[in-house]
Amino acid sequence: MIQLKTEREIEMIAQGGLIIATLFTEMKSLISPGADTAGLDIFAEKFIRSHEGAAPAFKGLYGFPGSICVSINEEVVHGIPRRDRVLVEGDILSIDVGVRLNDWCSDSAWTFPVGEIDSQSSELLATTKESLHRAVASVDKNNYIGDIGAAVMDCVEGTKYSIIKDLVGHGIGRDVHEEPQVPNMGKPGSGVQLREGMVLAIEPMLSCGSAEIVTGGDEWTVVTQDRSRSAHFEHTVALTSQGVRVLTGA
Ligand code: MG
Ligand code: MG
Repeated sequence: MIQLKTEREIEMIAQGGLIIATLFTEMKSLISPGADTAGLDIFAEKFIRSHEGAAPAFKGLYGFPGSICVSINEEVVHGIPRRDRVLVEGDILSIDVGVRLNDWCSDSAWTFPVGEIDSQSSELLATTKESLHRAVASVDKNNYIGDIGAAVMDCVEGTKYSIIKDLVGHGIGRDVHEEPQVPNMGKPGSGVQLREGMVLAIEPMLSCGSAEIVTGGDEWTVVTQDRSRSAHFEHTVALTSQGVRVLTGA
């Protein structure tokens, strides 16, 4: 069942979302060659817990060991923070963060360049970010879940990038993952109609090559089958009486 949220509940989700947006800004200077992903995890956990009532929502979720997911290059999502995963100039690093603040969850992801990156990676990041913006802009009470995926498809069509179709966005609220699923592909006008009070995590993931994914040996890290690079951008948004509102934006 889709849980619609009140204005007050949306405000509480936005407060957690602001913690994530601020965290991403703070982390930018730490994402550089030589940094390891466990260090980033520790920084993020401390930062989140420094806000009263806030905790990392991913820690322990389905048994995930970290506070944040850190996925490098061909890793799409669910990378586990590790001391021996050291960033190298030219890498791209996807960081996915969930915050639970006073029982309400928010979820956002961003892919960062590590130092100077090649032009294909840079274009991958720009295209993925743009597809998220277009998907967010499609959230309207006259639209359907299928319009969100169609907006991602429209943006990516004609580029050399592929949509990772097996991973989807989701409703969010008291739980990180709620109904409905929010696919990154779809037909306009299909699926559930969007309604005021819906809070959705929209999260397109694109790759430079194959759209197929496999799970790595640690049973968490999802990588592209052909090991091509991938990017991930995610916002938690609400459909309010004023239209769509991004809850994880700065
Ligand atoms: Mg996420
Ligand atoms: Mg999510």
